[in-house]
Amino acid sequence: MIPVAKAIKIIEQNVKPLAGERIRLADSVRRVLAENIVSDSDLPPFDRSQMDGYAVVAADTIECPVDLKIVGESAAGRGWHKVLKRGEAVRIMTGAPVPAGADAIQKIEVAQEIDDSVRIFEPTEKGRYIVKKGSEIKKGKVVVQAGEMITDNMIASLAAFGYARVKVARSPRVAIIGTGSEIVEIDKKPRRDQIRNSNSVMLDVLCRKFGATPIILPNVRDEISDLRSQIAKAAQSSDIVILTGGVSVGKYDHTKTALEQIGAEIFFDKVRLKPGKPAVFARLGKTLIFGLPGNPVSAAVTFHLFVRKAILLLQNASNSNADKGFASLLIAAKGTKERDVYLPARLSTTNDGRLVAEPLRFSGSSDFVGFAKAEALVVVPRGTNLLAGEAAKIVYL
Ligand code: AMP
Ligand code: MG
Repeated sequence: MIPVAKAIKIIEQNVKPLAGERIRLADSVRRVLAENIVSDSDLPPFDRSQMDGYAVVAADTIECPVDLKIVGESAAGRGWHKVLKRGEAVRIMTGAPVPAGADAIQKIEVAQEIDDSVRIFEPTEKGRYIVKKGSEIKKGKVVVQAGEMITDNMIASLAAFGYARVKVARSPRVAIIGTGSEIVEIDKKPRRDQIRNSNSVMLDVLCRKFGATPIILPNVRDEISDLRSQIAKAAQSSDIVILTGGVSVGKYDHTKTALEQIGAEIFFDKVRLKPGKPAVFARLGKTLIFGLPGNPVSAAVTFHLFVRKAILLLQNASNSNADKGFASLLIAAKGTKERDVYLPARLSTTNDGRLVAEPLRFSGSSDFVGFAKAEALVVVPRGTNLLAGEAAKIVYL
């Protein structure tokens, strides 16, 4: 049995990044950048008006009201490109370039046009309502670095700098296989002694969340020959195969034996972890293989700790760690002597701004109903018990 940290290190040592590919920007959310995003212009690209109003020389408005001669108009996309002089004003719209010679805007609400002039009722000051060229970003700056996962909030920025197509790491192909003679597809009514395969679709969704492209393969019975052939076949066309079930010590737990028989190299098969102790990590050719426990909560926890890491490393993500933090425990949490416990928990904040974790009442690793509301895992290190109010390490889900 190896510690969780050691298991993670082994994964880090055995995952090699995939090549990059160029895809449409709109399809790039949750994918990992394989190039730096560089600004191809100053932003704004010219001194820009923040208001509908008049571009003026601020010094002309010290004594108000004052009448200034309107000499032109600057609209968004159609600027006025002469030089404004003292005593003059240019009608200007939000987003339009501020003419040379002007050093301030006065807004339309405190002005009134009379014939060819505008009467300004309140002074403005140098720089007022002008967003200076390059004040948001300068040309040639790295805006987002290679290795970052693209988020929806980044899209506008990438679009503004012309990245209609963006280079990202190839999406890891993940084959998901549920194993167990008792499991049936989720659209079937389980017969006596059967249960629905809730793991495969859960893992499918989790894979997508971290940029992978999963497919769910048909369930495999607890038959060693079926397991062998289905795993070997799946490995041929995927970067990762995720299996659930059949990794513990029962008579019909054949996953590990099947892996050995097809010649997979097994890196670990027991982790000091609760739930999730029998998790297996192996490799067949270039394909990484994870054997996760069948219990849904164990499968989810081991996905987050191990598989997620591998998916991100394949994409050369600069941060492949699960997000961690600390929260104050709402109730006491008991640990165990041998293994680190990862307790599903809900998060909330107190009035004074403290983050609080409430370990969910759940009755063990098969309780996916209890797990459904989890937002984080509270870590109880082996050999410790945590008291209510104590700060605990948490892993965000
Ligand atoms: P195992 O890891 O095969 O010993 O399975 C542990 C428990 O998880 C058993 O109660 C199984 O019935 C259940 N289980 C196994 N595979 C799945 C699955 N794909 N979806 C839901 N539950 C499962
Ligand atoms: Mg089983």
